[in-house]
Amino acid sequence: MPAGNPIRKRIVIIGGGFAGINAAMGLAKLPVDITLIDRKNHHTFQPLLYQVALAVLSPAEIAQPIRSIVRKYQNIEVLMDQAVGFDLDRRRVELETGALLEYDFLILATGSTHSYFGRDDWAKLAPGLKSIEDATEIRRRVLLAFEFAERQMQEAGTHPPLKFVIIGGGPTGVELAGAISDIARLYMASDFRHINPADAEVLILEGSPNILAAYPPDLRQKAAQQLAGLGVTIRTNAHVSDIQPGYVMIGDERIDSTVTLWAAGVQASPLGKLLGVPLDRRGCVIVDQFLNPPGHPEVYVCGDLAHVEENGIQIPGVAQPAMQMGTYAAKRISRLVARDFGSEGTGVNQPFHYFDKGDMATIGRKAAVANIKWPFHGRWSGFPAWIVWLFIHVFFLIGFRSRLAVFRQWAWTYLTFQDGARLITGSQELPGWDARYGMQDGSPIVHPAPPIEQTAGTAVTGT
Ligand SMILES: Cc1cc2nc3c(=O)[nH]c(=O)nc-3n(C[C@H](O)[C@H](O)[C@H](O)COP(=O)(O)OP(=O)(O)OC[C@H]3O[C@@H](n4cnc5c(N)ncnc54)[C@H](O)[C@@H]3O)c2cc1C
Repeated sequence: MPAGNPIRKRIVIIGGGFAGINAAMGLAKLPVDITLIDRKNHHTFQPLLYQVALAVLSPAEIAQPIRSIVRKYQNIEVLMDQAVGFDLDRRRVELETGALLEYDFLILATGSTHSYFGRDDWAKLAPGLKSIEDATEIRRRVLLAFEFAERQMQEAGTHPPLKFVIIGGGPTGVELAGAISDIARLYMASDFRHINPADAEVLILEGSPNILAAYPPDLRQKAAQQLAGLGVTIRTNAHVSDIQPGYVMIGDERIDSTVTLWAAGVQASPLGKLLGVPLDRRGCVIVDQFLNPPGHPEVYVCGDLAHVEENGIQIPGVAQPAMQMGTYAAKRISRLVARDFGSEGTGVNQPFHYFDKGDMATIGRKAAVANIKWPFHGRWSGFPAWIVWLFIHVFFLIGFRSRLAVFRQWAWTYLTFQDGARLITGSQELPGWDARYGMQDGSPIVHPAPPIEQTAGTAVTGT
């Protein structure tokens, strides 16, 4: 489009995550037409997914319909659809429903997904945590394990040890481990009559020499101490070679596992590949300082999908950079649009710069580690770090109702150990386990399989 032609520009944003929503908000007040596409109807606040997975919060408290987020902006059209292809030369996006959308600017922000390092067959045995569906599946498995143990205890007077194995000791693995330990020791302590949920074992298997590899050594050490205080066992340099129903292998060593969870690998959304531009080894699109892939100044790639480097170091795939990239893309497009309307185009050549405010990870109900870089520098751990974590995460939740609801729910569960969203929904099967007799497939059955005559009144009886 030649400079000076004030025709309304069409902007297509793919992905309603942190980057996409921030880009849409940044563009909403301009005289442009925006189409925001997501395959889901909701934006998910992923940093709190583990709270849903471990039954402290309900899905609706950490997700919000995209339509309601952008409701007041008449120039934003929301489409629930999946992008499946691009024609960059003709500036078109192809959607799964067959529609072809034309654009003047494209913002691509479809995030990342789990990587099982080529062993996609492990996904069913060791779910990862990325979406609301993943979180409710993890919740189902964890709660079902306690139900099975209770039933076996009731009928046979014993049950195989409850063991939760988390593969990956990054922030997600650490948060999951702390939260499982908490629900076992605190929240469910008085829910069962026959088992002691606190006897459950939680084990983190980390392939590298340290958990929380991106954190400074002193915070890693504090995190390990806080996890030990919660009864979590950590094994580092532990390379998982196989996952089977009911157990995990590290070389020749077999580790029994009631529930196995995956927090070990991430790869970029497969959509990046369809652009036909250079990618890094995780499938992220390599972009320049303006977030454009080579040869396409009209395309912006933001968030987890983008490979952006500053001073030779890759910007991490976390929420802050994603939000800042979305905001940057909106600002740059608005400057380019303003130039078309006759302004001087001041700031058009300003590159993206990541403003790093720090990192934090929670460890259970009242501990965390925080490496804060803004508004002050400091390394915190324990309860003070957890309070900072709490306020930051509630503050960044989108939607006022959500913030209030989450805060109320947290305060209530925190003080009373009551309620929470401890619902088992969906299937009543657990890979490798038999609801009545314990572990299948040659795993140790610690009691003889009893004949079951009376099943009425038991909560979970298999499918
Ligand atoms: C369990 C977990 C905990 C985390 N904790 C933290 C934390 O504590 N702090 C932190 O800073 N970061 C955390 N992160 C990372 C952070 O959530 C991500 O970096 C951030 O969400 C990336 O934002 P994004 O906009 O790039 O992608 P996302 O937020 O993942 O959004 C991508 C969107 O694109 C949509 N989409 C994907 N493919 C298509 C398609 N083909 N067509 C249409 N739509 C599509 C998806 O439905 C999704 O809505 C966590 C992530 C996870 C999974």
